[in-house]
Amino acid sequence: MSNIPPLDLSRQYQLIGKEVEAAVGSILASGRYIGGSMVENFEREFANYIGVSHCVSCNSGTDALYLALRSLNIGAGDEVITTPFTFIATSETIAMVGATPVFVDIDPATFNIDVSQIAKAISSSTKAIIPVHLFGQPTDMTAIMEIAKQYNLFVIEDCAQATGAKWGEARVGSIGHIGCFSFFPTKNLGACGDGGAVTTGDEAIAAKIRMLKEHGSKARYYHEENGVNSRLDALQAAILQIKLQHLDTWNAQRHTAAEIYHQLLAPVSAITIPPATNGGTHVWNQYTIKLKAANNSEKDYREQIRQTLQAKGVSSMIYYPLPLHQQSVYKHLGYQPNSLPHSELVAHQVLSLPMFPEISQMEQEQVVYSLKDSL
Ligand SMILES: *Cc1c(COP(=O)(O)O)cnc(C)c1O
Repeated sequence: MSNIPPLDLSRQYQLIGKEVEAAVGSILASGRYIGGSMVENFEREFANYIGVSHCVSCNSGTDALYLALRSLNIGAGDEVITTPFTFIATSETIAMVGATPVFVDIDPATFNIDVSQIAKAISSSTKAIIPVHLFGQPTDMTAIMEIAKQYNLFVIEDCAQATGAKWGEARVGSIGHIGCFSFFPTKNLGACGDGGAVTTGDEAIAAKIRMLKEHGSKARYYHEENGVNSRLDALQAAILQIKLQHLDTWNAQRHTAAEIYHQLLAPVSAITIPPATNGGTHVWNQYTIKLKAANNSEKDYREQIRQTLQAKGVSSMIYYPLPLHQQSVYKHLGYQPNSLPHSELVAHQVLSLPMFPEISQMEQEQVVYSLKDSL
């Protein structure tokens, strides 16, 4: 029995290593490390891939969200609706621009925001909705865009975990007003360090984001606004350009691995497997099951299972143990226990199993065998 990590980037590197080393070597030799044609080419290719006219690269997915909110002039006194079951960056950036996150509970089946509960959270201060395509599963963008149109709101898609996913025939990041991507190494398209991008079909928004990410300047040393320094460097752009060519293949391999998990786990009555589709194409950044017996009062149950799995060489992860509305940073927002019950329960039930394009069927069998043994 071997050890099975949550993901293994070294296997991917074996495939593309030679090409990456040649590209990195040529950039190192060129002496041009910031900006330049590598970054411009990647932006163009990524915009093409997503199906939008503009891509602006930046330093991280967090910066992408921050720049998106700033470009729409969202700030103090404004409210932005999002999900409480996501990585902190989604709401952190809302607070960073001075606005207030308003959390709407999730659909416990898909882990994504429950679109049927959004309308009642809208107030006269609401400016935008940030749906998060969690674990690689697209949110119902048809419903989101209808609500946005009805109430005149902006939609910023948090696509950090869903690069390549589609809703209908459109890739996520091309449906809302702005799409935000992360190239953190664990994402479906990952750099060898930090990176991010914003996608949009709106030329004015793209120009504003480009200005904001370059210290609020269009012409160097002439500043129109307080901006930031947020760059994707040439080395990361070169690596991402190589990896982008493999993304669809890697996403298809994740899909195959998910189907194998589905088949092996469907008969296991103590767990709920994630739904395969909800009208979109899931790209399986995570394969996240729910432990049915876990509940709000039995916190140790899942931890015991995790430890037993670990002893058998199987690493599992918990995304996420505490929903955002219950984080101490948001105490002042005044959410009471049980105010968003689905996200609160699911946070005790979730367990993400090893998932990466190169995982073998034998490894998946070991994961499932070990899990059954641990339950
Ligand atoms: C990873 C992630 C981010 C932030 O991306 P970074 O590149 O790490 O800043 C934002 N939202 C979600 C849902 C993420 O998973």
